[in-house]
Amino acid sequence: MGIKLPSILLSKYTLLVAAQLVVNVTLAAWLYDEYLHNPFMQAYLSNAWSSVWPVIAVVIGIGVGATGVFVVYKRGRLAGILGESRPVSISLTGALDNLETINECPFCNLPLKTISEGRLQCRNCRRYFKSSMPKAEVVSA
Ligand SMILES: [Zn+2]
Repeated sequence: MGIKLPSILLSKYTLLVAAQLVVNVTLAAWLYDEYLHNPFMQAYLSNAWSSVWPVIAVVIGIGVGATGVFVVYKRGRLAGILGESRPVSISLTGALDNLETINECPFCNLPLKTISEGRLQCRNCRRYFKSSMPKAEVVSA
């Protein structure tokens, strides 16, 4: 009957986490105490650590890198969601009969600046275009 209430669930979960924390701290303290008083364990740990630390360093490096990528990805997505006030789609004006390539920004209707071979950029909104793109116009959905 307590399962229906989220607050009871939450407090049960919190209680479980607290109990686990107590057990973990107790075990860690016991292990550390054993380490301090057991020379065999000290020797074993120093051997194990010297062979294991490069693996741990690599794992930590991968973890930090993955976290960084994830944060950047989340921020980028968030900025994209916040910056986009309304959904915008581009429709091609004319199909195969209009082979005129893009020369002005379909969002700002301003001439595009050529950055490099085949790459154009709008001076106003900084969007990038390929010069091989056909002319397009913006349709607000
Ligand atoms: Zn533009």
